[in-house]
Amino acid sequence: MKKNLETICIHGGWKPTKGEPQQLPIYQSTTFKYDTSEQMARLFDLKDEGYFYTRLANPTNDAVARKIAALEGGVGCVLTSSGQAASFYAVFNICEAGDHIVSTNAIYGGTYNLFAVTLKKLGIECTFVDAEWSDEKIEAAIRPNTKCIFGESISNPGGNILDIERFARIAHTHGIPLIVDNTFPTPINCRPFEWGADIVTHSTTKYMDGHATQVGGAVVDSGNFDWEAHADKFPGLTQPDESYHGLTYATAFGKMAYCTKLVSQLMRDLGSIPSPHNAFLLNLGLETLHLRMARHCENAQKVAEWLEAQPQVAWVNYAGLPSNKYHALAQKYMPNGSCGVIAFGLRGTRDDAIRFMDGLDFISIVTHVADARTCVLHPASHTHRQLSDEQLREAGVAPDLVRLSVGLENVEDIIADLQQAMNKM
Ligand code: PLP
Repeated sequence: MKKNLETICIHGGWKPTKGEPQQLPIYQSTTFKYDTSEQMARLFDLKDEGYFYTRLANPTNDAVARKIAALEGGVGCVLTSSGQAASFYAVFNICEAGDHIVSTNAIYGGTYNLFAVTLKKLGIECTFVDAEWSDEKIEAAIRPNTKCIFGESISNPGGNILDIERFARIAHTHGIPLIVDNTFPTPINCRPFEWGADIVTHSTTKYMDGHATQVGGAVVDSGNFDWEAHADKFPGLTQPDESYHGLTYATAFGKMAYCTKLVSQLMRDLGSIPSPHNAFLLNLGLETLHLRMARHCENAQKVAEWLEAQPQVAWVNYAGLPSNKYHALAQKYMPNGSCGVIAFGLRGTRDDAIRFMDGLDFISIVTHVADARTCVLHPASHTHRQLSDEQLREAGVAPDLVRLSVGLENVEDIIADLQQAMNKM
């Protein structure tokens, strides 16, 4: 039976039968027992499906991965130990030394660093493009060895909305997939596969968990990208893998090739799985994702409208505001709301911004974002401090930008706290 997102949030991934636990059990075991060595050998040859070692697969993790795949409308999903691991694996699964990727420049600072610095050390170059550029200018960044385009559906911290359909068209014209980090809107508000994206990544640490209890990530494959049609670009998927008995993923696994390779090679060699206990916590969060996203958006809309009317506020970037330059794109890709994260600038000096943040009562200063508790952060002095001023500007982060993550408290209390802190500036 085809189910709606709200039902998938609750029932997706785990279907207990007679006498089984109603709630997803935590299989907190590193290993799984077999009766004959032949049974175990068939698992290692990928001839049978089954569990043998949690680094490669675990029933709790798999159930949660199935739920996220269903929410995104993908064919498969692999959970990772963090969002960073998800971004890395999503790219590294189809790239190797000598390759190149293109990414929009308005992305999370950690991802920017991963692409600009760490991938470079592995021999993979990244060209950052401005999503505002013309098609022609973006296409000029694509080279014969480019293996994907990467962008965030809603950028952290700027709140820019990615024109997913346009970027998918550009990527596909050049025979490469579009990877979209869908952390902020979550599949409740935006489903990138419906607009042509091929692979979606998540920091499940954020709204999906929603309660700041676990760090995690997910890579979801739509199954739509035809690796064999571009076999020369993606030899890792279309030529025999010597480390796996000469198996060719695209031939052996069809639409599941990308996810199977990611587990069989990257998880096998690099690790980065979540603990089953963390997957369980994530699953609890997912059960209410649909309710929480609606309330995050409702609260954030009211807070953004209030901020816009305050004399101390220089500018507000929230796609739900009709005045926002991304409003039309948000209406197209996320008509039911974007997320609870607002970027705004305060008039005055950097010290005024610090006085404002220090004057808050229950709204906390934390590195985190996108959970039940309202919180603030000054990216230039916190999350993005590893970036130079030039990189900051490239990533669309103004030095006065305050990131406000609107939580699930009573919205009048949130506004009252902001107001009393602004009064102290
Ligand atoms: N992607 C986005 C949009 C993020 O905001 C973050 C973290 O803030 C990440 C990826 C990295 O996720 P994690 O902190 O779970 O490693």
